Amino acid sequence: MPPGPAPVDPAAVADRLAEVRERITSAGGNRVAVVAVTKSFPPEAVAAAVAAGADAIGENYAQELDAKAAAVAEAAEAGCPVHFIGQLQSNKVKTVARHVGVIQSVDRPSLIVEIARRAPGLEVMIQVSPADEPGKGGCDPAGVPALVETAREAGLGVLGLMCVAPTVGGVSAAAPHFAMTRSLVDHLGLEHCSMGMSADLEIAVGEGSTMVRIGSALFGSRG
Ligand SMILES: *Cc1c(COP(=O)(O)O)cnc(C)c1O
Repeated sequence: MPPGPAPVDPAAVADRLAEVRERITSAGGNRVAVVAVTKSFPPEAVAAAVAAGADAIGENYAQELDAKAAAVAEAAEAGCPVHFIGQLQSNKVKTVARHVGVIQSVDRPSLIVEIARRAPGLEVMIQVSPADEPGKGGCDPAGVPALVETAREAGLGVLGLMCVAPTVGGVSAAAPHFAMTRSLVDHLGLEHCSMGMSADLEIAVGEGSTMVRIGSALFGSRG
């Protein structure tokens, strides 16, 4: 069999979401939202996550959103908002904004201008990069306050900050990056701190995450 995503079993997704919520509670989390990351999985994964009670759906690619347009529209109608969490090129904003209620991966002024043009008033989050890993998506921590201000001046709603752990350094590098992001959220008086994935959600919750983004722990391997 060629490699590819595991088939979607709605009952298994519901069981796994319950396990994820238990992991969050065990890590000391209280009212942490779970974004079910459905990238590379078929539309049935979106429906299964909504049925299981995920707080939001996360998608990474403009083309995939087009392909899953009906499923993501149904999710939004059912009260499960769709968040874009992937690296975003300005020329894809028009497509992405048709399908999502929140863009979490905002990391530069030109993107803010384009979002404000295509989807006035959309809610966004600013993605914070590790200080020593520029160019991999995310704004340098020092530039975050100005970017929040730029987004607000453009009329966008700023829901919070988002980050991904550094690619090198494992747990010992993740914790300080998460802590730094959370302190920026507090300093700026924002509501949400989106951090933590399947492998590092305990660390993120321990550092004050209010929103984890979970793919493989809900749906299995992406192949
Ligand atoms: C894919 C992805 C996730 C989910 O990753 P898992 O390890 O499958 O839980 C979370 N956040 C972002 C930005 C992603 O691209």
